[in-house]
Amino acid sequence: MPGSVGGEMNVYESAEARFEIAAQKLGLEQGVYHYLKYPDREITIYIPVALDSGQLQVFTGYRVLHSTVRGPGKGGIRFASDVSLDEVRALAAWMTWKCAVVNIPFGGAKGGVICDPEKLSQTELERVTRRYTAQLSDWFGPERDVPAPDIGTNEQTMAWVMDTYAMHVRQATTAVVTGKPLELGGSQGRQEATGRGLMICCEKAIAKLKMKRQDTRVIVQGFGNVGSHASLLMHEAGYRIIGVADIHGGLYNEKGLDIAELYDWVCTQRKPLPEFRGGGDKTTAQDILFRRCDILLPAATENQITAANAGRLDCRILCEGANGPTTAHADPIVDRSGIFVVPDILANAGGVTVSYFEWVQDRQGFFWRESEVNERLRDVMERSFDEVVRYAEVHGVSNRIAAYILAIDRVARALKLRGFYA
Ligand code: NAD
Repeated sequence: MPGSVGGEMNVYESAEARFEIAAQKLGLEQGVYHYLKYPDREITIYIPVALDSGQLQVFTGYRVLHSTVRGPGKGGIRFASDVSLDEVRALAAWMTWKCAVVNIPFGGAKGGVICDPEKLSQTELERVTRRYTAQLSDWFGPERDVPAPDIGTNEQTMAWVMDTYAMHVRQATTAVVTGKPLELGGSQGRQEATGRGLMICCEKAIAKLKMKRQDTRVIVQGFGNVGSHASLLMHEAGYRIIGVADIHGGLYNEKGLDIAELYDWVCTQRKPLPEFRGGGDKTTAQDILFRRCDILLPAATENQITAANAGRLDCRILCEGANGPTTAHADPIVDRSGIFVVPDILANAGGVTVSYFEWVQDRQGFFWRESEVNERLRDVMERSFDEVVRYAEVHGVSNRIAAYILAIDRVARALKLRGFYA
């Protein structure tokens, strides 16, 4: 199970712990508290798939719909060997809070399939995706629950989801899923959106701390969709990226790494990150987190910063690209050290924001220029950042708890306005 190591909280426990604190600060009434704490529905499915060898393998899949109070469920599908129901449950709740933090009209959902995508062929992945979608097709829909990519899934996976759903409902329905290829109703700027949103948060944070971009040293853990785009965009914007790592290991160079070359090496040539010869000492994905830097961007996976290692962080700003990279046990340690935290439900919300733009464009059948997408994304991220920081000041809480308070308050208000249908 992700996270439950050495007495440390798993992601679900971390998500719950923060929810509890924020709900208490808000004085949430008991009934609403219970309503928001538990998901609307949790589905476990068993997915029989014929492998290329002809053998039948049954995969376990999940889809958790946490909330539709503010709009249809929204959230990615994760393909990974350590996916668990607890993890998907936490990620679904985070989607509810994330959409509320940036004030887009979605609820929260998440899905997953226990599988190792690196060990499956493209045709096997396609069969897993199509069967998963077919089994959930009654629950998916542009006004019901709208999936997107996450770890281990990508544009191609979303194209298969869209096509399978379309075959079931017998009409092309592009808005059933986001993160699609441009040719199928995808949005300009979606691939880079989470990384771009992170960069916008970093710009706001350094302005607040009166730091200068060119003097800002950045370390990024994770070089997948989120980490690679954040690194590249920030490199192009003049930040000094001194360390990057992925699951295979990392590279560190105090003078700065050539991220454009590294991006080409890893993302275009598909070569192992640690074997990049562009100058940099080899290091590990764990070690890179504790090197001195100005901004640390954990953009890989959850539970990287725990009570056991949080005291070793040596950064001024922690901007969370991944979902749940810091455990709730680590929160007080990070806060005491004076690190300025941009919490995941704000920092990485650029992805779902442009997913929202994609959904809007699909539904209106009219597509925007990339500059238009990026401009609207900037507006959303800057406004949300300011709101979270203001809430932190007003309520005398950390940025993380402020983001939860802002989100829970928005969902609770919507819930009360809708009333309780009996
Ligand atoms: P991805 O699969 O494209 O990339 C994951 C990266 O993390 C890879 O470089 C991988 O090697 C690395 N990694 C995995 N485990 C690691 C470990 N233990 N140590 C070091 N590196 C490790 O996934 P992604 O889409 O970039 O997502 C990364 C994180 O960001 C996840 O937590 C995801 O939920 C979150 N997120 C993604 C999006 C999005 O738009 N893709 C949006 C919001 C949040």
